[in-house]
Amino acid sequence: MTNPYLAEWTTEFNLPPFADLTDEDVKPAVEAALSEGRAAIKAIADNPETPTFANTIEALEKADATPSKVLGAFYGMAGADTNDTRDALMREFSPMLSAYSSEITANAALFQRIEALWQDRENLDLTDEQQRVLMLTRRSFVRSGAKLEGADKDRMAEIKSRLATLGTQFSQNLLADEREWFMELSEDDLEGLPQFVVDAARSAGEEKGAKGPVVTLSRSLITPFLQFSPRRDLREKAFRAWAARGENGNANDNREIAREILELREERAKLLGYENFAAYKLETEMAKTPEHVRDLLMRVWTPAKEAAERDAAILSKMMTEDGVNGELAPWDWRYYSEKRRKAEHDLDEAELKPYLQLDRMIEAAFTCANRLFGLEFEPLDVTTYHPDARAWNVTRNGKHMAVFIGDYFARGSKRSGAWCTAMRSQQKLEGDIRPIVLNVCNFAKPSKGEAALLSYDDARTLFHEFGHALHQMLSDVTYDSISGTSVARDFVELPSQLYEHWLEVPEVLEEFATHAETGAPMPRDMLERLLAAQTYDQGFATVEYVASALVDLEFHDGPAPKDPMKAQAEILAKIGMPKAITMRHATPHFAHIFSGDGYSSGYYSYMWSEVMDADAFEAFEETSPFDPVMAKRLEENILSKGGSEDAEALYTAFRGRMPGVEALLKGRGLVAAE
Ligand SMILES: [Zn+2]
Repeated sequence: MTNPYLAEWTTEFNLPPFADLTDEDVKPAVEAALSEGRAAIKAIADNPETPTFANTIEALEKADATPSKVLGAFYGMAGADTNDTRDALMREFSPMLSAYSSEITANAALFQRIEALWQDRENLDLTDEQQRVLMLTRRSFVRSGAKLEGADKDRMAEIKSRLATLGTQFSQNLLADEREWFMELSEDDLEGLPQFVVDAARSAGEEKGAKGPVVTLSRSLITPFLQFSPRRDLREKAFRAWAARGENGNANDNREIAREILELREERAKLLGYENFAAYKLETEMAKTPEHVRDLLMRVWTPAKEAAERDAAILSKMMTEDGVNGELAPWDWRYYSEKRRKAEHDLDEAELKPYLQLDRMIEAAFTCANRLFGLEFEPLDVTTYHPDARAWNVTRNGKHMAVFIGDYFARGSKRSGAWCTAMRSQQKLEGDIRPIVLNVCNFAKPSKGEAALLSYDDARTLFHEFGHALHQMLSDVTYDSISGTSVARDFVELPSQLYEHWLEVPEVLEEFATHAETGAPMPRDMLERLLAAQTYDQGFATVEYVASALVDLEFHDGPAPKDPMKAQAEILAKIGMPKAITMRHATPHFAHIFSGDGYSSGYYSYMWSEVMDADAFEAFEETSPFDPVMAKRLEENILSKGGSEDAEALYTAFRGRMPGVEALLKGRGLVAAE
């Protein structure tokens, strides 16, 4: 029988035949896919014909078809639903895959063909998109060391393979630390917790096989626990466990891994002729240099820190009034901040929560996409990789656009966080290939028979990931390598962060924020309070984020630190980190920058994108949130374009100019009222 990963998928929309995919099939499929890819690459490199765009660049795109089909399906699933076998497979594959891509970029005959095309590019009569793909292909070869020779070349391959292994180990350690820890709660300990936290704790207790409710390190459980539990001792215990992930001195400790990663990254950058890793990394970004990044972060840091210090004074006073002696600690901030929110904005998260039902919020995200871009969503009755993952057929004017899979609930087999990934990307090189797009979140699963309820943050995450999904689903390019979200890292969060703004449009909440039990729409004054509260505690949020972004930048801009934990402490001391706030992600659990290269020296990019999303949404606000002209401009210049043009050019085409930092400061409520 043919391996189901490799067989032609004759399912509706050529979805992976999830029910037939077994873990035993994975390894032979990956091996076969890579050897097919190798044969195709060899044929391109050995082709006796003069290099042409078709026989070299397009052929390279096609050579990736089988590997990306198999790996897209497997990694899409494994990220959301892993087990020991899949963990072991991923550990085994990471050096294999890294060796595979190193082999391609180290293929001298192949690089010669690409270089020949590059030198002759003016005479090739290429479309703009082809020019761009040629430039990007060549640049990625050069950046991977295609011009290196001899010992340098061997060393580069070694470094890349080692980095891939370390990255995988880092995330697996983190997941193991998150899985292992939980804190049992007695019935008395539940006092003061809103019902949804109690439910989530009970449901987590069932999953852990505990006797009663527990607090786990899942963000969707520990955050509300820290927000609502009046028990300072329990908050401290939970917070310390949360902050110590990857730093427990056990087998999952990530500190030494982080140090080695930083050292290898620096060596890699220097081999390629860059001053340091940040210079290498930022070359391909919209920001271009470490100075631009630092400048942006510091312009935000100062007003954010001032706002956080003003807030800390207020919270400390509340704590004293509460009869607690001592200084405001990180495990106190969320609790007193929630109390203050209640007092000042009279917005009780527990009261709010029944209005934010998962299903209604999905509907809201779909409806906005319909009003803006004409997309329609029809539930699909298919078997996916897990019973909690649901699929929809996405169409426009009757034409199939994409399959969208939403996998929203937390479970032990899922890595933490929320993300969007494509099991298959849009492209037109080999027919009208439509994407399969996944949104994976970690929302607390309700008890049987109950409606799934979200916090406002969860709802925003849902819109955020859906914004990424739109970037994939509306993609309209010829080549897979520049499809959808294949754009500069500091540009990729623009569609997602921009989409969050539609959740804040009053008419959207009016329609979709309905009470889980009564079906009544959210009362007008609650809605107004909710929207007014959005700039609340932004000093805290900005400080915890910018601190992480600055540590990431400094780690990579200059010599690699011998002791990252010490370097982290020094950086925080230098910027005057407020005592009661910790980094959003401290080094031993900073998966964004250590699980892979993705956000290394690039964690700033969320804020970079926020500069743009604030400015971009203003374009809609100037007319109307659903202005069809602006929606069309957004799709034509950004959402459909993938990486087919430089990010700066795409943004300027949409908005007519580049954005400044002012809209962001205003949006976060960090500019003093005039
Ligand atoms: Zn994102």
